Amino acid sequence: MQIEAEIEHVPTVVMGVHTCDMHAIQLLDRVHATGYADQHYLARRQNTVLVSVECLRPCMPHSFCKSMGTLSITEGYDIHLTDLGTDYAVDIDSEKGEAIIAGLSALWDPTDEDYERLNRVMAEKWPRFAYRLDFDVTELPNLMGMSYNSSYWEELGARCLACGMCTKVCPTCYCFNVSDEVDLSLQNGKRLRIWDSCQVDQFAVVAGGHNFRASRAARQRHRFFRKGKYQTEAYGLVGCVGCGRCAAACLVNITPVDTFNELYRRRTERNHAEAKS
Ligand code: SF4
Ligand code: SF4
Repeated sequence: MQIEAEIEHVPTVVMGVHTCDMHAIQLLDRVHATGYADQHYLARRQNTVLVSVECLRPCMPHSFCKSMGTLSITEGYDIHLTDLGTDYAVDIDSEKGEAIIAGLSALWDPTDEDYERLNRVMAEKWPRFAYRLDFDVTELPNLMGMSYNSSYWEELGARCLACGMCTKVCPTCYCFNVSDEVDLSLQNGKRLRIWDSCQVDQFAVVAGGHNFRASRAARQRHRFFRKGKYQTEAYGLVGCVGCGRCAAACLVNITPVDTFNELYRRRTERNHAEAKS
């Protein structure tokens, strides 16, 4: 019997990638190229052109990209567009991007006035976004480490429905299950990767029926530790890019901003109490 990986090489252009999602893709690039490199991801990525757009306004009330440092992007795209009103500023960061714009008659080399327009648009953009975390993002991994035994995880676990929506919409979540489908002849079959979620009850069930992360509280903690600590420490990039999608998707209003700020509030209170005693 012979088993071969089916590597897809479908040329793809992704248009209008938000700046926060560009940060998420940069994280995924590192994750999937490190250790056991993911040949499927890398093949697809090599055949993908990313055309990103500079976000000039928050896309929803739950966004907190400014707090996570993902409000803007300076590299990693093939083509980056900034809306100047009547024109777009076009920035290129790859040979693929250069090849696409080569010969386009609608482009011109920027003048001093064009740079001034771009600077003005960027200067007007920043005040439209609010800092929503009560502390600097560089403190987040340390805060998470000190919050491992917080009672807050039990409170989140009591609310969580284990529906998995927060991970399904997350641009930095990439966990999948593997399932084998064999046809009736037992001669042919497929090995499939299927999106999975660390928040559903069965996620951590292993041989013998043992569930090594059975409680919803433990799974919420795991999720937020990945977003706030593990990914940053392993790959040097934020594990949550502040897009706010999980907050919009959660039926019981469990959100990263509320979670991180509440952990910060409890740690600050604890520090004050210890200082007094
Ligand atoms: S955890 Fe939520 S806010 Fe952060 S990147 Fe994922 S979906 Fe976006
Ligand atoms: S979307 Fe909300 S309720 Fe559903 S698993 Fe995530 S945190 Fe729990």
